[in-house]
Amino acid sequence: MDFKNTREFAQQLDAKDKLAKYRDEFHFPHVNGKQVIYFTGNSLGLQPKRTKAYVDEVMDDWAKLAVEGHFYADKPWWDYQERFAAPLSKIVGALPKEVTVMNTLTVNLHLLMVTFYQPTAKRFKIICEEKAFPSDQYMIQSQVKFHGYDPKDTIVEIKRREGEHNIRLEDVLAKIAEVGDELALVLMGGVNYYTGQVFDMKTITKAGQDAGAYVGWDLAHAAGNIALELHNWNVDFAAWCSYKYMNSGPGNASGAFVHEMHHNDFDLPRFSGWWGHNKERRFLMEPQFDPVRGAEGWQISNLPILSLAPYLASVEMFDEVGMPALIQKRDHITSYLEFILHEINREVNGHFEILTPSEPAERASQLSVFLHGEGRSLFEYLMKAGVITDWREPNVIRLAPVPLYCSYEDMYEFGQVLKAGILSHKK
Ligand SMILES: *Cc1c(COP(=O)(O)O)cnc(C)c1O
Repeated sequence: MDFKNTREFAQQLDAKDKLAKYRDEFHFPHVNGKQVIYFTGNSLGLQPKRTKAYVDEVMDDWAKLAVEGHFYADKPWWDYQERFAAPLSKIVGALPKEVTVMNTLTVNLHLLMVTFYQPTAKRFKIICEEKAFPSDQYMIQSQVKFHGYDPKDTIVEIKRREGEHNIRLEDVLAKIAEVGDELALVLMGGVNYYTGQVFDMKTITKAGQDAGAYVGWDLAHAAGNIALELHNWNVDFAAWCSYKYMNSGPGNASGAFVHEMHHNDFDLPRFSGWWGHNKERRFLMEPQFDPVRGAEGWQISNLPILSLAPYLASVEMFDEVGMPALIQKRDHITSYLEFILHEINREVNGHFEILTPSEPAERASQLSVFLHGEGRSLFEYLMKAGVITDWREPNVIRLAPVPLYCSYEDMYEFGQVLKAGILSHKK
């Protein structure tokens, strides 16, 4: 499609957008009385207006029923998490029994590493991507040390080539082959948080497993953003947070995936608790742990219902919209934003470059812009002008044109603000 950098053209795209009505389903912050242009849904998604009713329902049940709410609330608490299995399994491409919600993301990755990182003298190395999200780096380092290994000899990072912004698939595969028999685990972000690069999870999973390793994915930037087929790709395990693209609220619960092939393998170690125990027998308080045959078998504690309620509102909205429609708009609005950025960059004689791959298959709802010259002050200018973006050192602004609530006109308007900002800085 030929795009135009005009307000009328952007408005025409909005008029044709089948998801446009969802914009009204969200609360937007305001700056100087004006609704912001929100580009940080990859950091904290906006609050859906319907969420409050889900939380109020739990508060009311608790007030009226107290402990009886576990069994007699409209949505009983004791198996509240089961409501996620169907919609969430569609979002991540899994069987319902392969997914659950529990804890928070880094905690879940730790727990899943208890199961899937069992280093031996020969096979002990972990492959991850260079510049992984800091929490993932700390998590992996601490796991390695916990098992008595030195991170220096154990963690193998896949690097970008000199002068390139993104990691090449061939380099991931070459590193897996090189580490070979020493490889215990591949654990990477499915979508890189810094550049927005989407990895070929299917190919990497197969290569890692062919080398004899387990393969897990941190899907913080992938869940609710890209098409996932965790079951068909034969992924061993995965976890994601729900507060980025999935709009469940600050620091909220995490989702976890454990492939069916591991559900009946009781030799795999795991840290257990009563909520992972056989449901029929959970309240018999027996001493012997008998895990649920499914991802729920990795649960530990009874669930924080007040934090699951907003997440449930979110997965139900995603189920209503469906990932295919979401992805279709995502690609289109991201391409429009890319077009606007190129237009503005031309008009200001090249002030920035886009780090994110230009190939649609290798990116999703994010463009990372590397600024030459003025950076931080331009970011602050945008904030004051009502455009909320995300700043990353050394000089990167991340933009997520989230398809559920961003409009094409937002993209046009942003371009105008950006141009004014760059020109005022050049003076
Ligand atoms: C956001 C993010 C996290 C955050 O983890 P929490 O445990 O939820 O604080 C971890 N890893 C990646 C890749 C992320 O993008």
